[in-house]
Amino acid sequence: MSTITTELTNKTVLDRYFRLPVTGQKCQAMYVWIDGTGENLRSKTRTLNFVPKKPRELPIWNFDGSSTGQAEGSNSDVYLHPVAIYRDPFRLGNNKLILCETYKYNKKPTETNNRWHCKEVMQKAESHHPWFGMEQEYTLLDVDNHPLGWPKNGYPGPQGPYHCAVGAGKVYGRDIIEAHYKACLYTGIEIAGTNAETMPAQWEYQVGTCEGIVMGDDLWMSRYLLHHVAEDFGVVVSLDPKPVLGDWNGAGLHCNFSTEEMRKENGYEAIEAGISKLSKQHVQHLKHYAPHEGKDNEKRLIGTHETSRMYNFSSGVADRGVSIRIPRMVEQEKKGYFEDRRPASNADPYKVTEVLVKTICLDEN
Ligand code: ADP
Ligand code: MN
Ligand code: MN
Ligand code: MN
Repeated sequence: MSTITTELTNKTVLDRYFRLPVTGQKCQAMYVWIDGTGENLRSKTRTLNFVPKKPRELPIWNFDGSSTGQAEGSNSDVYLHPVAIYRDPFRLGNNKLILCETYKYNKKPTETNNRWHCKEVMQKAESHHPWFGMEQEYTLLDVDNHPLGWPKNGYPGPQGPYHCAVGAGKVYGRDIIEAHYKACLYTGIEIAGTNAETMPAQWEYQVGTCEGIVMGDDLWMSRYLLHHVAEDFGVVVSLDPKPVLGDWNGAGLHCNFSTEEMRKENGYEAIEAGISKLSKQHVQHLKHYAPHEGKDNEKRLIGTHETSRMYNFSSGVADRGVSIRIPRMVEQEKKGYFEDRRPASNADPYKVTEVLVKTICLDEN
């Protein structure tokens, strides 16, 4: 099953065409956007007669929103507003990936465009210099939606040997992880690292530190790259927060956070004050930490498998069974950052970063 892509097409033949020289300033611009699910990405390409340097040089474009869950068929045009430019690791050369926001016919943001509001909040809180580092966990699946490399009738051995492992039978799909890491570096995404996770076929990469809106932008584009790279290998990427029920770890999107005040000498007080503010908004924040008003997190935040219980707020030093973890080193140095372990793997980073900044920097809820 996993060879479907290579049976239908041949990457070696494709490469002949990729190597054809294109003269002049022509550039292929792949516009990328978040669809009506708020989780999936879509893209389409147009030719430009110049090489864009800034998003505002790029034309606003549109698409058929009735086919992406973003509009009615009778009024289907949705607008694509370019907001960030990345080098294209698939087509190479001058070609670009263009991250876009989506707007409706009446110029209002679509329901799943969470960026516009996040951007406003980030601008208001600019003087705090909010930094983020997000840990994206995900699971590789075969095209039949079975975890990659798992026995087709049954389960691999229990968790224990897989986290950060090496060796056949312990890790599955490393090629995809390597290709994605390089692709992120090529595009200019602030990818910070990667590791094999606790459940076999589950992996993580980290993006950051990024300041403000760049966190959401880079994470969304890194997800686009991940789906595309995996497609090249005939493998499916799942951001399901609990892909396998039972004694198997779920997947999160831990968000590490700091303000300038927290990073300064004795920033520990600001860290504690921030956590105290979060404790008062716990239930409210959970709604933004997973799709479907937070419901997607219910199977994951169960108090076992390195998670806290969904509706109990807790924090602690070096403790991975809490909502908010303070790294040991931060406690020792009395400055740094904290880790919010609650967001689910399929959370919208624009939402997560927005509510942290709103509550901690702006005292808004
Ligand atoms: P874990 O031990 O939870 O697995 P990781 O090493 O995977 O942690 O990720 C830690 C993340 O914290 C990195 O992405 C890093 O960029 C981020 N980080 C480090 N310092 C800060 C900081 N001062 N503010 C925000 N994020 C930070
Ligand atoms: Mn990690
Ligand atoms: Mn992890
Ligand atoms: Mn973590």
